[in-house]
Amino acid sequence: MISIEEAISIIGNNKFALETEVIPLTEADGRVLNEDIAAPRHSPRCTNSAMDGFAVKWEDVVPASIDKPVVLQIIGESRAGIPFEGTVLPGQAIRISTGAMLPSDVDTIIRIEDTERNFDKVTILRAKSFQQYVRQAGEELQGGDLLLRKGTELFPPHLALLASVGVFKVPVFRKAKVALVVTGNELMPIGQPAAPHQTWDSNTLMLSTAIRQDGGEVTYTGQVEDCLEAITAVIRKVAVHNNILIFSGGVSVGTHDHVQEATEQAGFLRLFWKVHQKPGMPLLCAKRDNTLLFGLPGNPVSAFMTYIYYIKPLIWRMQGKEFAWNIIKARLEDTITNVHDRKFFFRVVISKQMDGQKVVRGYQNQDSHILSSVALSDGFIIINNESTVPKGSWVDVYLFPWKTNCT
Ligand code: AMP
Ligand code: MG
Repeated sequence: MISIEEAISIIGNNKFALETEVIPLTEADGRVLNEDIAAPRHSPRCTNSAMDGFAVKWEDVVPASIDKPVVLQIIGESRAGIPFEGTVLPGQAIRISTGAMLPSDVDTIIRIEDTERNFDKVTILRAKSFQQYVRQAGEELQGGDLLLRKGTELFPPHLALLASVGVFKVPVFRKAKVALVVTGNELMPIGQPAAPHQTWDSNTLMLSTAIRQDGGEVTYTGQVEDCLEAITAVIRKVAVHNNILIFSGGVSVGTHDHVQEATEQAGFLRLFWKVHQKPGMPLLCAKRDNTLLFGLPGNPVSAFMTYIYYIKPLIWRMQGKEFAWNIIKARLEDTITNVHDRKFFFRVVISKQMDGQKVVRGYQNQDSHILSSVALSDGFIIINNESTVPKGSWVDVYLFPWKTNCT
């Protein structure tokens, strides 16, 4: 039996980075760049107008004011996407729209609001400065400039930034390939009838959804009975093309728990089995080549807590994402005593007092089969073995992923 900290360190020492794949930008949401990206061209690509108005020569409009308006002849138009092709001579102006290309022989924009128009003449009432309302080509980026660094997680504005300079494919960390297998003769697939002595397999849905949300690729889901040969065979099968294998159930010491032995039979080296924690004590971790196998206890709370505490950060880090818990401070509403000889992942509900202080109370039933202790809690606190945390203490609350707005 090892400590939580040792388990984290062993997993950290055995993780490996995933190789690169180049994918279309349209599929890159949430992926992490595996190389620096340079801008292939200037941004903006051409000098253009920041306003709807008139493009003029500064020398023509310098003296313009309401008392001394300047009248110019309108000889054409530059529209967004349809540039003006001709030449603008002194005393002339063209209409221009926001984002439209500025011809090289004009240099200043007069907003519509600072003009009066009369057929093919425009009266300039105000001109403040040379090159006003002009967006210069390359003012944001020059071709060759560093655009985004390796390690950047791509959120919608990053995707837009890449698209805006014509980067349509990106090198990213490949997704971790994860196989998920649940064990247990009592399990029935969801959607099918189940007798009271049977159990709907909620772990496959819970874990496969979490893996996908964390950026992993679920390559396989399957159910296997509590039989050493059958479990060994499925481990051998899924070990081939995957980075992480997650098993649920059958990992403890009961007569029908075979996952631990099966991993050995399938040629995996055990890294640890059993961690000083509650829930999730029987957690198993084993390795073969570049594949890590986790045996999670079947109880849904244990399966979820061990997944989010150990495997979620691993999946993030393998694909180059920083992982940090979202932790907030809150005061304990009631004294809690952990009588167990293991650290306790104690699920809590947060509320706010009149003065705005956050207060937490333990979820009423902390047993490993009480799924609502996760689903209806906001997060958990970690209580040391055989210790008491008095009422009113400030505690660190690890927020569940769907509760990040509790801050
Ligand atoms: P085990 O770890 O195999 O001893 O299972 C512990 C408890 O978790 C038992 O009550 C199982 O029925 C339950 N359980 C195991 N696998 C699942 C699953 N995939 N979905 C829901 N409950 C499960
Ligand atoms: Mg079982």
